[in-house]
Amino acid sequence: MVLNEMGQKISQALAFINNAETLDEKVLDACLKEICTALLQADVNAKLVFGLRTNVKIRANNADKGAGLNKRKIVEKAVADEVTSILDSGVDEKKLTDLKKGQPNVIMFVGLQGAGKTTTCTKYGAYYKKKGFKPALVCADTFRAGAFDQLKQNATKMGIPFFGSYSETDPAVIAQQGVEKFRAAKHDLIIVDTSGRHKQEEALFEEMRQVATNVQPSLVIFVMDGSIGQAAFDQAKAFKDAVEVGAVIMTKMDGHAKGGGALSAVAATKSPIIFIGTGEHMDEFERFEAKAFVGRLLGRGDWRGFVDKIQEVVPEEAKNEELMEIMQKGSFSMRILYEQFANIQKMGPVGQIMGMIPGLSNAGIKGKENEGGVRIKRFMCMMDSMTTKELDSINPKVWTETSRIMRIARGCGRHPLEVQELIEEYKRIRDLIVGNGKRPGMMKAMGKGG
Ligand code: GDP
Repeated sequence: MVLNEMGQKISQALAFINNAETLDEKVLDACLKEICTALLQADVNAKLVFGLRTNVKIRANNADKGAGLNKRKIVEKAVADEVTSILDSGVDEKKLTDLKKGQPNVIMFVGLQGAGKTTTCTKYGAYYKKKGFKPALVCADTFRAGAFDQLKQNATKMGIPFFGSYSETDPAVIAQQGVEKFRAAKHDLIIVDTSGRHKQEEALFEEMRQVATNVQPSLVIFVMDGSIGQAAFDQAKAFKDAVEVGAVIMTKMDGHAKGGGALSAVAATKSPIIFIGTGEHMDEFERFEAKAFVGRLLGRGDWRGFVDKIQEVVPEEAKNEELMEIMQKGSFSMRILYEQFANIQKMGPVGQIMGMIPGLSNAGIKGKENEGGVRIKRFMCMMDSMTTKELDSINPKVWTETSRIMRIARGCGRHPLEVQELIEEYKRIRDLIVGNGKRPGMMKAMGKGG
């Protein structure tokens, strides 16, 4: 997706200042020009882009005054912070996504027709079903012929109960009946899909308000097509003005989405993006966290998103706890990497999650997902030639012995340089996760020891 390109361009601009001999005004201006062009090309609202430019310059100039501070690092951090802050609505995404089990969470979906609302309702329900919730779907779209059938079809496929009517014409009445029915049946996640189209915009907004009055949603989610670009700001704002939008889901982030729409929707609704849709299939749906996203954009990898994906595939809690515990103790062995690779292979389209793995992010670029999958297979084949001691060792010395590397290479029919590449990859991932003495690992950054 074009978003990746934006991230790459920003990373390149930052690399440019790192490679320059001195970081003077001219170099900084050239770097910021590149970054702003990348953001504007990605359809980010011009006002937001110029705000970013000004803020980074202020921080860089302040750094000039502070003795001993590394100006390059400050500029790098300022850019990452500023991109994050455009995406940051000030609301904690976790509060909106960590729903409480056993309580009647009523979630109302709004958005224009074609945005992907009905598809997203089901993806959302299926996501929480995997987490142990008891979801149900209510179709309150009486405007579009076939809306109920579409929802029914999706819901049936995912094994989620649904409610709708072919005869009732008042969407607010259907919504209320559906929510009451599922509340009584003790469903803890009741998803209400609303209409996205009317002859007049005002009639659509009035209908949304009536549905909201009747079902008293705990959260209203605005679903937006990620590829609409500059129109995003006005569209998102119109919805926010009509109902209490609390969160945004961007769809079609797999297609021609330039990503700028996402930034604009957050700014317009002051609500965070909590999920993104990355395809038509039910599992093409990801959690979205601004900080991790920016990290990914700038090629830093997103360990948390990776763990989240792993948890979806391997739902047995014990297994994950064990994994977390091992990582917290700092014992990230080659065997753990092997197990994670095996899990990744269960996940289907490897490219979708490759970008999340710290240290492997370049392999996650769209169109290159096969390369990522092939690389993982090759790595696993080399790991198969390792001894138990090698797989379980957390002693870095093990990986410096040439005879050992030669033996593994012979065992799997690979070049010793490829074995070395695997070892480097392992070390990089391990250092990122558990730290390496010079800097703390991600487990620590996530507040989980390390
Ligand atoms: P609604 O009118 O807002 O309810 O939209 P639908 O759920 O009917 O979706 C409109 C079209 O967008 C359908 O063809 C969906 O398969 C497609 N769609 C929805 N989400 C995504 C997504 O994340 N990626 C892609 N590529 N297509 C999507």
